[in-house]
Amino acid sequence: MSHTPLESLIGSGEPLTRSIALMERACRSLQLPPAAVSNLISPQEVRVFRLPCKILGRVVNLWGVLALHNNARGPFKGGVRIAADVSLWETVELARLMTLKTAVTDTEFGGGKTGIRVNMEHMYRLFGRQAPDPEFEKIISLDAVEYYAQAMRDVFASHTYVPAPDLGTGPDEMASIFNETLDPASVTGKPEGTHGWLPGRREATGYGVAYIARRMLEEMLGTSPSQATAAIQGFGNVGGHTATYLAQAGVRIVGITDAHGGVYDPAGLDVSALQDHVASGHTVGGFSPGQPLTNEQLWGLEVDLLVPAAVGNVITAQNADEIRARAIVEGANMPTTVEAMDVLAERGVVVVPDILANAGGVVASMEEYSRSLSAMKVTREEVFATVTRSLGAAFDNCRERSRATGASLTEVAVAMAVERVYGAMRRRRMT
Ligand code: NAD
Repeated sequence: MSHTPLESLIGSGEPLTRSIALMERACRSLQLPPAAVSNLISPQEVRVFRLPCKILGRVVNLWGVLALHNNARGPFKGGVRIAADVSLWETVELARLMTLKTAVTDTEFGGGKTGIRVNMEHMYRLFGRQAPDPEFEKIISLDAVEYYAQAMRDVFASHTYVPAPDLGTGPDEMASIFNETLDPASVTGKPEGTHGWLPGRREATGYGVAYIARRMLEEMLGTSPSQATAAIQGFGNVGGHTATYLAQAGVRIVGITDAHGGVYDPAGLDVSALQDHVASGHTVGGFSPGQPLTNEQLWGLEVDLLVPAAVGNVITAQNADEIRARAIVEGANMPTTVEAMDVLAERGVVVVPDILANAGGVVASMEEYSRSLSAMKVTREEVFATVTRSLGAAFDNCRERSRATGASLTEVAVAMAVERVYGAMRRRRMT
């Protein structure tokens, strides 16, 4: 029997995801009552929507999901993702991750997420276009977000959910949301020079990943950054800025990949030249000097630090044994499966979880949100100082608790976040 788009979007029962498994562990260790566990894990609201979008004179129906996971600690917060594989449960999982991320860094937001399903290959066929055509893809993502902003106007205008960029969207799409509400605090990640934009917001996630990586190298591996080597998967917003700030700290980055392949140079890659190479429309793989490197080969590199900063579920029980790095700092959301985490823990590989390592973006988003409310301007240096302070405090707390209990950084970060969300839910009589 064929499935309607709505059926295929919803799928069947929720799979046992990484955040559910980790939250259940945390709830067990905190001895929370079963009803509270269920209320912590379940989203508060999920909307499945169909957007009839007029794109280049033609009506195209796009399906999507708005997952509002938890707002006990503040407005639902999370990015708008445009991708071919968007599903209801993935969007719920990403919203739940945002609840944990905002809580572990003590940022007064909750967790939410939007997914809009767009299959670009299908779009190229439908419009008779030839791939790759970045301008055509931009028209589609801008139109999709414009119709989405019209449909969800009230949610944004009331600050019930404050969106931001994610995979497939950026500052331009956030400008479409601002155009709809005319309220600078209704959306973060706005483009430079527009009302309420924040200097440093674009770089903040990678800046934070590099800051946490430096502290981890020094305090957990006992290696100074100038003696350390690193490999990075992904050279987009997160991977690119992480590479830049790690290189500035003296780390020798020997391998970088993107979706098409990568480059390896044991002497250390020239990150700034690689940025120029990619900015001029090339892939990472074609860069010289260096040798070709595949995404599979990246995992086996003998480095101190590995930063997966591209997509989720890439380090699994199948390849966790191949990892030769001494530590992993998660730049992407959920790049390591729970099974892989257990294998890595047994092998003594340190993992700094996404909710701590890549939270610089959401910390900067709170700065953008509050500055938009007050109309006060800050500098990029002040934004970076806030990111350093928030992530630094979260890292200190996690390290201390991990040392005291023997639990992994991931386990203690999730437990800290669960405690904070549960506390707020209790105080607000939400559980
Ligand atoms: P991006 O689109 O700017 O860059 C993604 C990079 O990953 C590109 O270099 C791309 O070529 C590469 N890539 C894509 N698929 C790949 C694959 N299968 N194998 C190897 N490389 C692949 O995205 P981004 O904003 O840098 O986000 C990357 C990750 O970080 C995502 O998981 C995202 O959810 C997460 N994240 C982003 C932010 C942010 O502020 N942008 C904040 C927190 C978490």
